[in-house]
Amino acid sequence: MIQAKGWAAQDPKTDLAPWDFERREVGPHDVQFDILYCGVCHSDLHQIKNDWFEGIFPMVPGHEIVGRVVKVGDHVTKFKVGDLAGTGCMVDSCQVCENCKEGLEQYCLEGNTQTYNSMERDGSRPTYGGYSNTIVVREEFVLHISDKLDLAATAPLLCAGITTYSPLRHWKVGKGHKLAVLGLGGLGHMGVKFGVAFGAEVTVLSTSPSKEEDAKKLGAHHFLVTKDPEQMKAAQGSFDFILDTVSAEHDMNAYLGLLKTNGVMMCVGVPSKPYAIHPFSLIGGRKSVAGSGIGGIKETQEMLDFCAEHNIVSDIELIDIKDITASYERMEKGDVRYRFVIDMATL
Ligand code: NAP
Ligand code: ZN
Repeated sequence: MIQAKGWAAQDPKTDLAPWDFERREVGPHDVQFDILYCGVCHSDLHQIKNDWFEGIFPMVPGHEIVGRVVKVGDHVTKFKVGDLAGTGCMVDSCQVCENCKEGLEQYCLEGNTQTYNSMERDGSRPTYGGYSNTIVVREEFVLHISDKLDLAATAPLLCAGITTYSPLRHWKVGKGHKLAVLGLGGLGHMGVKFGVAFGAEVTVLSTSPSKEEDAKKLGAHHFLVTKDPEQMKAAQGSFDFILDTVSAEHDMNAYLGLLKTNGVMMCVGVPSKPYAIHPFSLIGGRKSVAGSGIGGIKETQEMLDFCAEHNIVSDIELIDIKDITASYERMEKGDVRYRFVIDMATL
């Protein structure tokens, strides 16, 4: 076994603290890479708090992982020692079902293996995430990372990036479309960048008036304060798409009113409670509410290559691991500009 060190939550009520653990030996198809940076996703906070379901503890969160390869298995062909490498939310899937074969491993019919808070496919041990010094991942789930981009700012692309890129691509959002991004946090700010890059007219819908200047710097064309009834009224029926990235409970009916006829609400945020949607919010204007989960491996690589080509990274605040709890507190208040990334040298 490989000795690893990281930061873990021992239970849902205890703050993260240093924890030593073991990772599996590098198998013939595995890549081991030392972690240099790991992004902090709101999903990390949801999961250590058991917001969605009972988690597996101790839990080492982190699924926006970048680093450098230190060892490869005998059958590995795509990576060599010294390469930059990245891993997002998944480390394995069945690889043979209809969805896996189509490159939609996130929708693996047997369930994908998450990077943490999941069991290895052989059931032998839990998976542990990126708030740690090293990781072993099967080759198919390791991404190539360009050396053209700032490495720390690339880490959030592995989750926040692909989670917003994938639905915008699926619904072919681009020129001629009015796109609203609901919630300007880690996912939201990447949604703005991709929406703009794809040619859409982008509006940020935010509860935080103080984010207006940032939204414009990110490339958004318009900014709407959702707490202002006048602004909400003026925007009724004006968007083709809304990308909902909100992490907490919110009134979907109010936001559905902002969609045009045939408009689509693309939900990626995962609040802890179900939505309460009145049928009238959908019927009046044939509206759709849809969901999207991260993205497959092929599309994640496509997104990373697109970012390298178009010089797109996340806007980050680099933190020491010891500041993780304070960062979670700020994230809970919507005070992230726009992604915390842990400098793993501080582990
Ligand atoms: P984040 O950085 O905390 O951003 C969430 C943003 O939502 C906040 O910055 C805030 O923006 C807005 N917000 C918060 N509470 C709100 C409320 N009560 N009403 C309206 N808006 C509110 O979180 P994140 O990392 O981007 O993650 C967002 C959500 O996506 C989380 O639930 C996460 O678990 C989920 N997620 C899903 C996937 C997937 O595959 N579908 C992948 C990753 C993450 P403003 O200040 O602008 O209002
Ligand atoms: Zn995430």
